Amino acid sequence: MKRALITGITGQDGAYLAQFLLEHQYQVYGTHRATSAVPGWRLQALGVAQDIAFVSLDLLDFENIVQVIRQVEPDEIYHLAAQSFVAKSFEQPLYITDVDAMGVTRILEAIRTINPTIRFFQASTAEMFGEVQISPQSENTPFLPRNPYGTAKLYGHWITSNFRDTLNIHASSGILYNHESPLRGEEFVTRKITKSLTQIKYGLQTTLELGNLEAQRDWGYAKDYVEAMWKMLQSETADNYILATGKTRSVKEFVEMVAQVLEIQISWQGQAENTVGIDAKTGQTIVTVNPNFYRPTETTVLVGDASKAQSKLNWQPKTSFEELVTLMTLADIEKVMQFRVNA
Ligand code: NDP
Ligand code: GDP
Repeated sequence: MKRALITGITGQDGAYLAQFLLEHQYQVYGTHRATSAVPGWRLQALGVAQDIAFVSLDLLDFENIVQVIRQVEPDEIYHLAAQSFVAKSFEQPLYITDVDAMGVTRILEAIRTINPTIRFFQASTAEMFGEVQISPQSENTPFLPRNPYGTAKLYGHWITSNFRDTLNIHASSGILYNHESPLRGEEFVTRKITKSLTQIKYGLQTTLELGNLEAQRDWGYAKDYVEAMWKMLQSETADNYILATGKTRSVKEFVEMVAQVLEIQISWQGQAENTVGIDAKTGQTIVTVNPNFYRPTETTVLVGDASKAQSKLNWQPKTSFEELVTLMTLADIEKVMQFRVNA
């Protein structure tokens, strides 16, 4: 049985990856911060919590990382733990640098010291491209990060490449474009929309406040993306790969698609921050814009070219935008129904 150590197992990707690895007969160890409760709602929702061995790990503490890797003796480490919310990264640039940049170096250095044959996956991000003018982006596109999150992740990305190229560690980096699911945190725009519009539909909320409705993202399904992470570590040689769908949609289009699933007919009025979304049937304003949700800087349109992953890993996303939005909305409808039963 292979042994995998997943950092950030309580997050969205950690939960899907744990499920995937268990299905592939791995022994799964998951790290959590001492302050965060395990197993947490995501692993419970997937019904896999009881099959995971939890270990407490602090990404700021090198000695602790060494001790955990010695104890677990993993064959593969999937490094997913990070402060991953871009908007918050402007408030905590020092902390995010320590966690998202130096945290990667600490794990790689521990691997080099303890057992250099351990295979390593780093969760990099499309935010590293930032202000880029080239579209779609590939593994060779230059990086121009626009926020502390993207900047810290870029360091993590480069140090992963350095350990691979100069120290011969099997270290791969996935340049991940946005990927969503019913397990996505509610602070991210997709889950915020599916949850809020569902609550509005069932009379539990009146309006949904959003920021930039014209912002576009290359949105995929998290479950598809964790499979690619695994494929990278099964590959004979380590490398960097873009993981993306190659298509972008705006926040407004996301709202419209959710409304369609919920059978709400939405009509837009006004411009920019005065835009409102009205339920055509009831005449009620259900979407408004609140500039507090605008970003100090917005990345240009990021869209990824995943053809390298397709040719070398035989990976491509299986879930369409419409399927993704539908499955997320249906999951939020089920939550409302459950809430009603329990109320
Ligand atoms: P989540 O935010 O859902 O999960 C992040 C995980 O990191 C949680 O388990 C959290 O644990 C842990 N964590 C947060 N801060 C710290 C810290 N200071 N020290 C240790 N652990 C911490 O992220 P996702 O699952 O969505 O993403 C997984 C990885 O992929 C992340 O590295 C993210 O940056 C990257 N990524 C994700 C994208 C996406 O669209 N989802 C796109 C591009 C990259 P706790 O329970 O303690 O809070
Ligand atoms: P990100 O790509 O990791 O920053 O993922 P988010 O889901 O947080 O944001 C995606 C895009 O949606 C960004 O361009 C935001 O500016 C935009 N957006 C618009 N309204 C909101 C909102 O209310 N919350 C969030 N989180 N993002 C919003």
